[in-house]
Amino acid sequence: MNDPTASVEIPNLPPQLAGLQKIALNLWWSWNARAQNLFRSIEAYLWQECGHNPIKLLRMLDKEHYEKLLGNEAFLQEYHYVYALFRRYMEQKSDCSDIPPIAYFCAEYGLHRSLPIYSGGLGFLAGDILKEASDMNLPMVGIGFMYPGGYVHQVLDSSGWQQGQSEQIIKEEAPIEKVLDEKGEHLLLQVPLIDPPVYVNVWRVNVGRVSLYLLDTDIEQNDPWDRSISYRLYTSDLHQRLRQQIVLGIGGYAVLERLGIDFSLLHLNEGHPAFALFERLRHFIHKGYDFKKALQKVRQTSVFTTHTPLLAATDVYGFDIVSHYFGDFIKDLGIDTQTLLSFGIDPQNPSDGFNMTALALRLCHYKNAVSKKHQKVAAQMWQKLLEETSSKIEAITNGVHIQTWISGKLEEELDKTLGSQWPRFQEDPDIWYKSKELDNRFIWETHSKHKIHLLSFIQEKARKKWGEGVPDPSIILAEGVMLDPEIFTIGFARRMTEYKRPDLILHDLDRLEKILNHPYRPVQIIFAGKAHPADIPGKKIIQRIFNAAKDPRFQGRIAFVEDYGEELAKYMVKGCDLWLNNPKLPLEACGTSGMKASINGVLHCSTLDGWWPEGYNGKNGWAFGVDPSDDSQDAAQLYDLLEQEIVPLFYDRDEDGLPQGWIERMKEAITSVSPRFSARRMVQEYYDKFYSKIKEYYATSTRRQTSP
Ligand SMILES: *Cc1c(COP(=O)(O)O)cnc(C)c1O
Repeated sequence: MNDPTASVEIPNLPPQLAGLQKIALNLWWSWNARAQNLFRSIEAYLWQECGHNPIKLLRMLDKEHYEKLLGNEAFLQEYHYVYALFRRYMEQKSDCSDIPPIAYFCAEYGLHRSLPIYSGGLGFLAGDILKEASDMNLPMVGIGFMYPGGYVHQVLDSSGWQQGQSEQIIKEEAPIEKVLDEKGEHLLLQVPLIDPPVYVNVWRVNVGRVSLYLLDTDIEQNDPWDRSISYRLYTSDLHQRLRQQIVLGIGGYAVLERLGIDFSLLHLNEGHPAFALFERLRHFIHKGYDFKKALQKVRQTSVFTTHTPLLAATDVYGFDIVSHYFGDFIKDLGIDTQTLLSFGIDPQNPSDGFNMTALALRLCHYKNAVSKKHQKVAAQMWQKLLEETSSKIEAITNGVHIQTWISGKLEEELDKTLGSQWPRFQEDPDIWYKSKELDNRFIWETHSKHKIHLLSFIQEKARKKWGEGVPDPSIILAEGVMLDPEIFTIGFARRMTEYKRPDLILHDLDRLEKILNHPYRPVQIIFAGKAHPADIPGKKIIQRIFNAAKDPRFQGRIAFVEDYGEELAKYMVKGCDLWLNNPKLPLEACGTSGMKASINGVLHCSTLDGWWPEGYNGKNGWAFGVDPSDDSQDAAQLYDLLEQEIVPLFYDRDEDGLPQGWIERMKEAITSVSPRFSARRMVQEYYDKFYSKIKEYYATSTRRQTSP
């Protein structure tokens, strides 16, 4: 955190309010309700219009506006309070400073909409881990990519076909700072041993007490092809993808060295950054270790998390292109090409090519899958490799950063019911047990407000789109302008891809029509999600849903909301009644959106895949589906559940209009899911199973060195 940086200017900000810039430039504000309320209180409508981006807001205000704030006693008081809260948080000394500093590598981070460097679940998990490491005061730094072209910004044409547009990152409005070199220039670095040379600029994102460094290749020192290396996430061009991963792994490692960041533990989130292990190996060899010792040291100090149960989803490169790019590297390591290539071979599929997951599994002693179910699948997938290395894959089930995803209103009430210290003990089920005492009327009224917020947000999006001009007004109708806050609402939002079966509920349209247009228990469904630009079947599913949304027979009760991202997700996981998830077994490694929904009392209804076999207790949501998955049977079970159990329970009201049975389930979801699927529990598990072991490794290896 001590490296010099330059941040964007806030033109009219008076020195008395300089703290606002400091708060805006640290994403700490995004998980602190009071800091958010402070920005909201400046100008509520603008805050909404700016997409809750405080840097954008502060840059838009004129002198007059700031004058007015300086004369507003109540505002100043709250400003001083929040600024003090922020400084206290930042200055708190770590009580786990005894563990070796952790360098965390990931190809994407989902932190906030103002920094669109994520595509989905993997990124949000990485973002939540950094936030939690900050809250727990673990010594961690993150390494990632600046993608100037963002991820696809989703726009559907009038036939419902997803048109990819790039969502340019506006650097002046993003929560980033330039890392500076000794001369005060933007830090520029050459990625080691890659020919022709590639250069990167380095940016810093402040995630509470954790620094995340982003590598940017879109700079004038690179030729156009190199500039475009980090242009966008997960390019389908294999060469470019390999070069991306070289820059991330090897360049990322070089950035840490250049900044003099002392880290002794590497945590790789998914296979994309696995080349960092090569650079670490080279580093140890240069320090004087022989090859075998260096290899052992890399293994003993590195952690790898795998996120997919699908071999097709791992990155595999031809041996020829890997040896092409790593020619100089191999020479520098003093090994032969065969040895280097052998690290990436999957013994179950040796001729496939160089597999990034195999590389990471082989060179990291500590490894995990992301749910108990995924662990079983992964252990089979990599059985031979695990035997060869005499190692195992543990299960560490994902979790979500509670204060990021929970409703601010609910959080305030929890302060009263659980005691204001609850965040410190949030992984303790006993603490959460008391949330059963939350007032049912409060729960229901809060939920109803969230639902209204969600529908207003959707309608506001549609209104803007209408204003921009559309070829066909039915596009606007399909976006959800006819949704009704009184009606039972199902949410389905995630990446649109075949194995997640987003259109399962459309399996029998006649039966669905009866459910949606029921005379006194109507139902509506909100869909959202992007397809990867190269995923044609995913785009076809979107088109199918969009056409159903436009179809008058469903009377406006199906909506497809464009451009799913962090902002819409925050509204949906609070404002829907039911969170539907129906992946084909066993293809969902974990899933996290259902956790976000559950901690807000939005009930999860899911096939028994990913985290749900661990999370479902019979009272906190619903489970359906057969194993192995069968679309017809699964859809039929879902319709039965909706007709016979779920919808009737929702509409069963007492004399005060409260659905008591439903609210009991909401409370059960909050109580049972929050502690066990919190990022706190997850990071604590990483600590217990991996980080603390590596700490012991260092302790014993130092002792050995110093003893005579
Ligand atoms: C949490 C989240 C995801 C991941 O959800 P899954 O259930 O794992 O598919 C994807 N996108 C956004 C915007 C999220 O917030």
